[in-house]
Amino acid sequence: MTPDVLSRLAALQEADLPVLGGRTLAYVYDSGLAEVDEIGRAAVAAYAGSNGLDPTAFPSLLAMENDLVGFAASLLDAPDTVAGAVTSGGTESVLLAVQTARDARPDVERPRMVLPATAHAAFHKAAHYFRVEPVIVPVGSDFRADAGAMAAAIDDRTVLVVASAPSYAHGVVDPVAEIAAAAAARGVRCHVDACIGGWVLPYAARLGRDVPAWTFSVEGVTSISVDLHKYGYAPKGASLLLHRSPDLRRPQYFASAAWPGYTMLNSTMQSTKSGGPLAGAWAVVQQLGHEGYERLTLDVLAAVDRIVAGIAEIPALSVVAAPDSTLIALACDRSCDPFTVCDEMASSGWFVQPQMSFAGHPATIHLSVSAATLAGVDDFLASLGAAVRQAQATGPVTVDPGVVAFIEALDPAALTDTDFDGLLAASGLVGDDGDGGLALPDRMADVNALLDVAAPAMREALLIAFLDRLQRPTRPS
Ligand SMILES: *Cc1c(COP(=O)(O)O)cnc(C)c1O
Repeated sequence: MTPDVLSRLAALQEADLPVLGGRTLAYVYDSGLAEVDEIGRAAVAAYAGSNGLDPTAFPSLLAMENDLVGFAASLLDAPDTVAGAVTSGGTESVLLAVQTARDARPDVERPRMVLPATAHAAFHKAAHYFRVEPVIVPVGSDFRADAGAMAAAIDDRTVLVVASAPSYAHGVVDPVAEIAAAAAARGVRCHVDACIGGWVLPYAARLGRDVPAWTFSVEGVTSISVDLHKYGYAPKGASLLLHRSPDLRRPQYFASAAWPGYTMLNSTMQSTKSGGPLAGAWAVVQQLGHEGYERLTLDVLAAVDRIVAGIAEIPALSVVAAPDSTLIALACDRSCDPFTVCDEMASSGWFVQPQMSFAGHPATIHLSVSAATLAGVDDFLASLGAAVRQAQATGPVTVDPGVVAFIEALDPAALTDTDFDGLLAASGLVGDDGDGGLALPDRMADVNALLDVAAPAMREALLIAFLDRLQRPTRPS
């Protein structure tokens, strides 16, 4: 690449959220350690061209994968029988957990899985892709899965029961022991989605924090997903899916000799896959080791504690649930609205993530706190206080009751492309950049408030139409 292309890349990247610095409290995870970041990047670059399609052709990739599964096995109290694989991310790990559970039960004609209402959307994607019917069980008032209700939801068609450690939206750990026991009693698999907490909770326990049992130490837990590219602080594109035994993993493999080329043999969804993310994760895990992660966990939990204490000093804000790990959900009282607070935070250089109202609970603000955030906690809290005062001065965003009624009356399935063009323009989601292209709004509060009054199916349809309009080719002139 010539320097010219690299500088163009750098210029393009200026519009993106910063991935380092600890001020982006969703999407990215920063250890705050420059050498960790550098080692990860160097390893990705060194392996960018290698191919995980065939482990006999690139034996180093197999060795690194087995090392990572072994490291995770010790972290997750796995028995000697444990087997696993590195995947491209949490969604792929979840998809494979569901696919494997489904295919292990060819006797079940119309398979189902029992999910707490707080399970990650990746399970809904798996339901959609693999035609496994989700049976959604409401959570308790503490936002944890209701183990009794989940047990009652298991039937002869259930192929999988799911728990989160912790849930993304509220940051609390489900009662895994009870849920896994109920699944085991019915001979059903139990997957623990520890995509975001799996690399934090074990170190938190070692540091003396109160962590309920959720790993393979719990009888009945058959598989666990853990993302390396979240609190493993590895470059993006790496997660782990572990099964209690090779037997349980078996249906995850796919082989096809039904064509004239090489026999396709895959352990995950991808076939040709870059060795980069795997090497990046391996390098970061080697560099940090258990000691490094323990220190980072000490830092990130200190940041969480200080943020929770600071929020208690801001009367308009409250935490939705006491965080069990590194995720915080914030609620606003009636004096301000979370979407405006998010916008105000963005204008002072902090990205916090809006979460829409759901199942009768009002909209909230999500924080995924990183170890790197610790150094900036005082600034974060000062910015948050100022954002709340500004949002109170502006007043909560409101949606015209006529517009609410209009949106509520719409059936997304009956809308045409032209209808969506009109809706997107009216909502302010897409504007004209004056150059024949689309412009994104600077402030999102009004758009979010509008999406928030839409039913989930309408929200999905609007956002799909939105992305469809964004994803159009840039043709050379
Ligand atoms: C992030 C996350 C996922 C999905 O992971 P991706 O890496 O974004 O595909 C699944 N479950 C939980 C609990 C998560 O936090």
